[in-house]
Amino acid sequence: MTYDYDDQNIFAKILRGEIPCSKVYETDHSLAFADISPKAPHHVLVIPKGPYVCYDHFARSASDAEIVDYTRAIGEVCVRLGVAPGDGGAGYRMIANSGSDGVQEVPHLHVHILGGRNIGPMVM
Ligand code: IMP
Repeated sequence: MTYDYDDQNIFAKILRGEIPCSKVYETDHSLAFADISPKAPHHVLVIPKGPYVCYDHFARSASDAEIVDYTRAIGEVCVRLGVAPGDGGAGYRMIANSGSDGVQEVPHLHVHILGGRNIGPMVM
């Protein structure tokens, strides 16, 4: 397998503190921050701190500790945003665009969490 991680991508710069972000949540292995161009009242990006290009890279290369941390961080962000159905929230959509067909713009794995309004049907 070959994944070329570009350490000059914008999320790598956020992780190094070279550019600011509006932080929502942080753990040992994960960071969540507001999307700079929100598509919904809540639009948060959750990224692993490790240098993973996309989800399959992460799933194949990350440690169990990173995977558990990231998975739980995404859930915790949903709870903190008040959108988790288990806490009476109205729900959310999770999206992880990957590669060129997935129209991934930033080559560092990120999950979008969108909520705060009805997100509507998936448009294909
Ligand atoms: P992608 O198409 O899934 O790669 O989405 C990249 C997302 O990153 C887009 O929703 C952008 O609005 C968002 N984005 C780009 N630069 C920044 C930034 O500096 N801070 C926060 N979000 C950003």
